[in-house]
Amino acid sequence: MDLRIILERCTGCRLCVPACPRGAISVLDKKARVDMAKCDLCGACVSACGKFKAIELICELAPAANKSQHRGVCIFVEQKDGRIASVTLELLGEGRRLADELGEPLSAILSGDRIERTARDLICYGADRVYLAEHPDGRAFREDACTEVMVQLIKEHRPSIVLLGATDVGRSLAPRVASRLRTGLTADCTGLEIDRQSRDLVQTRPAFGGNLMATIVCPNHRPQMATVRPKVFKAARRDEARVGQIIKYDYSQQCLAVGAELLEVVEKVTQTACLSEADIIVAGGLGLGDAGNFRILEELAQVLGGAVGASRAAVDAGWVPYAHQVGQTGKTVRPKLYIACGIRGAIQHLVGMQSSEMIVAINKDPGAPIFDVADYGIVGDVLEIVPALTRESRKMKESSGILGQRVSDLEKVAVTVPEAVGRPLDDLDLVRDPLQQAGV
Ligand code: FAD
Repeated sequence: MDLRIILERCTGCRLCVPACPRGAISVLDKKARVDMAKCDLCGACVSACGKFKAIELICELAPAANKSQHRGVCIFVEQKDGRIASVTLELLGEGRRLADELGEPLSAILSGDRIERTARDLICYGADRVYLAEHPDGRAFREDACTEVMVQLIKEHRPSIVLLGATDVGRSLAPRVASRLRTGLTADCTGLEIDRQSRDLVQTRPAFGGNLMATIVCPNHRPQMATVRPKVFKAARRDEARVGQIIKYDYSQQCLAVGAELLEVVEKVTQTACLSEADIIVAGGLGLGDAGNFRILEELAQVLGGAVGASRAAVDAGWVPYAHQVGQTGKTVRPKLYIACGIRGAIQHLVGMQSSEMIVAINKDPGAPIFDVADYGIVGDVLEIVPALTRESRKMKESSGILGQRVSDLEKVAVTVPEAVGRPLDDLDLVRDPLQQAGV
């Protein structure tokens, strides 16, 4: 892409000057001039010049890449104060698998401040090479600076595949990098494979509101870029014996000469944990009856140290914000414990949560499909069972103080539910007997 001023049409009116967010335009001798070192081709000046049509964005197809010059899989690392985000561990696991299939190296781009130890951790989790970009100003994520770091490193080392998490960070970074490198990007992938013949990356993602799965390839350009939905792939396992290379990258002034200034970082304060990071999720569906009843789920989630999830039907009803939706068109989750309350178990919901380590389902319909994937199924009214579960969990937490740390603790809670609601087991019509399951 390029930007062109058509001098015959330019009147020197200066409308384009304040429209440019990068301060790249000046007017000299009544003609607009663009400093291409500052311009990021956003097109704001083209719109501002609508009356005279004196500025044009020229889009040409990027020439096809020489594929033989590109090797390896590269991931972008998300971290906070050196702690690697779970989505990055998942990218390392999947990236390692793809790299092994190609017989090529796996590299990781790590940007931040005082994070050399994290670079070593990345090697233990599967990276062969870590490009380490350290700078005191890099402590908090800055998308302009990270874009610059990524573009420079990718141009220099030419990986064939670049993966980022489909998180707020990855979603803001990936399109900028792809556009600068003039390559394609597939957002929010739920499946990645290597085509045996062409060795291209075959990327799968839901399309048209989740009604079909699209398979996308990037056959002519490199790198092949994708953002990957969190919790779809298994996290890499740590192996202390692994060896790799840490390559320090000079965090140049160019990377820091960005348009935005970071004034303050405000930590998000919530009563319950973030859905995609949570070890325990208490999720509700239409069976809760109304929006106000989600309060009982929040109470249970708070006692267990978990997060609240929801079915799409509950989100569509306006009971909970979309950020809580689990499923094909919501978030994919893989917690240690998923408690489904008044959720039928439609296939679109199951695909987002069925990889959870343990599933407890509460539903008044014994034939509900959610019971097909549940480890513990309780047939009953959620409005009765959930408060009982909260009471019981609170008691256990007070006596042991460790509730929620181990799956076995949660099994104990699940086992006590029938007692907690004050009715014998037979009365509750358990779909599966939790006592038998727990080997009691
Ligand atoms: P319902 O189907 O109405 O089920 C309510 C359940 O609650 C029933 O099983 C009932 O027996 C039980 N119940 C009622 N009262 C009580 C009570 N007092 N105590 C205990 N149980 C009770 N859905 C998602 O969840 N996530 C998605 O991402 C998603 N994406 C979709 C994408 C597409 C393209 C399409 C077509 C659909 C999608 N859906 C998704 C919708 C999905 O098909 C279902 O409609 C939805 O999951 C149903 O939500 P639900 O189980 O809460 O509601």
